[in-house]
Amino acid sequence: MADFDIAIIGGGINGAGIARDAAGRGLSVLLVEQDDLGSGTSSASTKLIHGGLRYLEHGAFWLVRKALIEREVLLQIAPHLIRPMRFVLPINPERRSKLLLQLGLFIYDHLGGRKILPPTRKLDLTQDPAGQSLKPELRSAFEYSDCWVDDARLVVLNVLDAAERGATIRTRMRMINVVRRDVWHFMLECRGRRAPMTARILINAAGPWVGQVAEHLLQIPGRPPLRLVKGTHIVVRKLFDHDRGYIFQNSDRRIIFALPFERDFTLIGTTDNEFTDDPSGAIPTGDEIAYLCGAANEYFRTEITNKQVVAIFTGVRALHDDGSKKPEDVTRDYYLTLDESKHAAPLLTVYGGKITTYRRLAEEALDRLKHVLRDTPHWTAHVPLPGGDFSHDGIEQLIADVRSRWPFLSEPTATRMVRAYGTRINRILGTAKSLGELGPNFGADLTAAEVRYLMQFEWALTADDVLFRRTKLGMRLSKVERERLHTFMIGPPAKAVNA
Ligand code: FAD
Repeated sequence: MADFDIAIIGGGINGAGIARDAAGRGLSVLLVEQDDLGSGTSSASTKLIHGGLRYLEHGAFWLVRKALIEREVLLQIAPHLIRPMRFVLPINPERRSKLLLQLGLFIYDHLGGRKILPPTRKLDLTQDPAGQSLKPELRSAFEYSDCWVDDARLVVLNVLDAAERGATIRTRMRMINVVRRDVWHFMLECRGRRAPMTARILINAAGPWVGQVAEHLLQIPGRPPLRLVKGTHIVVRKLFDHDRGYIFQNSDRRIIFALPFERDFTLIGTTDNEFTDDPSGAIPTGDEIAYLCGAANEYFRTEITNKQVVAIFTGVRALHDDGSKKPEDVTRDYYLTLDESKHAAPLLTVYGGKITTYRRLAEEALDRLKHVLRDTPHWTAHVPLPGGDFSHDGIEQLIADVRSRWPFLSEPTATRMVRAYGTRINRILGTAKSLGELGPNFGADLTAAEVRYLMQFEWALTADDVLFRRTKLGMRLSKVERERLHTFMIGPPAKAVNA
């Protein structure tokens, strides 16, 4: 008998999705994350739940179809974290013909059984407000649908659901001394304290560290089929005053997104650069910032320089190496390998994937293991994530309900909190009758009640966990405010729960 059916290395979206799915199937699950949940690639994405329009050019119809179908599935299970977004694609015949764009968007509209999201339409940029921030020579565009997601919260809510279904979650812990016999034997280590454990199956979902884990921790011989590609985003003060995103065709045939971000900002990304170093050391470079400013300056009237950049983040994709020459051409689909040599406990390894397809990846991972585990039905497509138990088009109503129950909340605060916590907002606000009853305010609209909730139920341990992953308020707090939050979090006896 092992302690767990499954032990998962990596608390990014893929590890979190597998943990949730497995726990809901009645399996005993251990999820081990060396840092904070979602602190790897899963908080550094462009934050799109999308089919990937550009993948059509690569003939990746199967991936696009799978991802397009997932858009509406995820929108329905997490209507607080995920919202429909319209994308403006200016027609620029020097880059791609109008006919090619029209054909691509027709396929995009029809490939994925779209039911909720509205179809593509043409825009006259000389009349439409979306044209006001763009260069006057851009006279027409297409507008199509995809979705936006709070990526790091999607990770946390999958983990929360897994924990509520019985999974054991260990953050800021490393797995060491792994020995493979008929079950896996390993040690968990945190600040010198060690605990021995066993599991029947091990899943390596370490994202860009998947190769390091395979080689150094699991000592699997041979080079993993892995290609690391680094992508950087910049954040600037908002460049336009509407809630649609832009997708720009760049001169190198790549595309760049410019998206409304956190009410007052615009997020611009991404780059695609081959990366061969340790993913922990991935940092943005001046060239990447210049590239993104240059790409945006081809389209926006307002000139952007590196001086306007208020935040930057970089993530590393762990793609399955399909032999493509250019980093942007490597497949974005996931690839699972199952190693189950005789008398040795099974090892499942996850390569690549997208936030968009994490739920399907988790289903397939467990399907690959069903001869070892119980054969249990799929369930995650229909069961909402914590706080997401309302209709996909019910967010405005929920915000209105919250404001009538807690009238002291401003509209932006109610909106932010409903988007983050959905129907679980009552667990933070409780019976409070005034803002003062929520405790000290740390800056922006972050109160002690919210921070305590994040520490108690969402594994937040540091100010960065709260400010950059559980919320995105980090850009709004001064250094002094951040330090005050830090002191508050480390001050009282540790409340964080490793359920
Ligand atoms: P990660 O999120 O990196 O998680 C792996 C985790 O494993 C990390 O938290 C790490 O700390 C942990 N770990 C590593 N080693 C150990 C160890 N020894 N012990 C314990 N824990 C360990 N996808 C989309 O669908 N839409 C997008 O718009 C999008 N944009 C993107 C933009 C960029 C720039 C990048 C880089 C990716 C983007 N993606 C997007 C892809 C998506 O972000 C990734 O596919 C996804 O986040 C990968 O998740 P993961 O769980 O595999 O990896």
